Amino acid sequence: MKFQPKASHFINGEYVEDTNGAPIDVIYPATGEVIARLHSATPEIVNQALNSAKSAQAEWAAMSGTERGRVLRRAADIMRERNHDLSVLETHDTGKPLQETLVADATSGADALEYFGGLAASLTGEHIPLGGGDFVYTIREALGVCVGIGAWNYPTQIACWKGAPALACGNTMIFKPSETTPLSALKVAEILVEAGAPKGVYNVVQGYGDVGASLVTDPRVAKVSLTGSVPTGRKVYAAAAADMKHVTMELGGKSPMIVFDDADIENAVSGAILGNFYSSGQVCSNGTRVFVQKGIKEQFLARLSQRLATAKIGDPLDEEVNFGPMVSKNQMNIALGYIEKGKAEGARLVYGGERIDGDGFYMQPTVFADVTDDMTIAREEIFGPVMSVLDFDTEEEVMARANDTEFGLAAGVFTKDVMRAHRIVAGFEAGTCYINTYNLAPVEAPFGGSKMSGVGRENSKLAINHFSEMKTVYVSMNDVEAPY
Ligand code: NDP
Repeated sequence: MKFQPKASHFINGEYVEDTNGAPIDVIYPATGEVIARLHSATPEIVNQALNSAKSAQAEWAAMSGTERGRVLRRAADIMRERNHDLSVLETHDTGKPLQETLVADATSGADALEYFGGLAASLTGEHIPLGGGDFVYTIREALGVCVGIGAWNYPTQIACWKGAPALACGNTMIFKPSETTPLSALKVAEILVEAGAPKGVYNVVQGYGDVGASLVTDPRVAKVSLTGSVPTGRKVYAAAAADMKHVTMELGGKSPMIVFDDADIENAVSGAILGNFYSSGQVCSNGTRVFVQKGIKEQFLARLSQRLATAKIGDPLDEEVNFGPMVSKNQMNIALGYIEKGKAEGARLVYGGERIDGDGFYMQPTVFADVTDDMTIAREEIFGPVMSVLDFDTEEEVMARANDTEFGLAAGVFTKDVMRAHRIVAGFEAGTCYINTYNLAPVEAPFGGSKMSGVGRENSKLAINHFSEMKTVYVSMNDVEAPY
């Protein structure tokens, strides 16, 4: 098989197999062809990974930040050198067009490795002077063994967004990719070892949800970082809480994008395209509720349809193609099911709406207009290329409607009125907001959600706080005063 790795898991610096685990067939979404067969981790494999991460952690944490950072930065360089091959692999794992994977996956993974590699040497505590000569100093300590659990939309990026800050702080990691896209994380593990990471610092185990669940509840684990859906997040958070483990939850969304009638229409349409159809709509922060002020609604829809007609749908390995298949038949059917619900509940289908015939899991980019707040397509996360356009009249009205959701991952506004833009983002109940753009997630900026969309933040200096904790040391320079 074309993309068969040496073995299913990567533990203690090497590939490990146990064919007693349930088979995992890796399917190329563009053709339906099986490109690799892996096996889910058995309890023995999970145990091996936990032991390996546990025993490597003290040595890794004892290295200087400069040394740890050097390993991460070397890994970033290797990833960039191999960007083409890694992108081809990511395209096979996910179906995302090579045009995207060449610029968004190994490259953003490398950015995280480089950024946190750069920070590693300057992770410190602080000195806090107190009265009378006493002082406190704080020591920033690693948490221990961290578990990363990934979704299938950005497997390389997620493996690095979790691994890089964890390792920079002196933790070790066990990463469990989604069983839909298990291949890329193995390459991240290989590259880290090649870059000098000691054995056991970054391990990958494959498996279904039960493998993730067994990792989350293991007493050797100090922290769990999940990228996934809200229902999974709820389970994982609850399981981690039993042992008071640290968590980061990057979950789903149903984010609003507001387009006022003074907006630059061309930019707003670009934002709506990026925020709904990149990666065939399989992006957590997508602005899938597009509120368009009534005065420009028909103009907006007309221009959007014209531009969608120029999307190049086809073989994701063709670099001209910019819209690929869905990650799996299952995900395609979920999205098609929502399209039927949209039609049945009275939304107006403006563009697309159909499956594209063939063996691959292709469907058209789809736009509904005249969507109302109570329709299923306006309330539930679809995780596919289905945009809902909703009308609005006033700023006050749209603000309330934009926030009327259990989710709070992202939100965006398009307007030329600078005062209004800042007023709107101040009112958004969302972790990541955009003014006159959408869906950019540079490693320098915190990323994450409010409300049901998550807990904690990835990327930026803030991620360090989620992968380390402070020890406070009070130092007395005086006699001890006791009351009796
Ligand atoms: P799931 O929630 O189904 O799965 C996420 C991961 O958790 C998978 O690896 C899954 O394994 C694992 N898992 C499932 N059940 C458990 C359990 N009980 N204990 C531990 N681990 C478990 O999400 P999808 O993979 O379907 O990804 C899509 C979702 O991810 C969307 O809702 C999307 O919004 C969200 N997402 C959020 C992002 C963010 O940064 N906020 C970014 C990208 C996606 P398995 O797949 O084998 O079941």
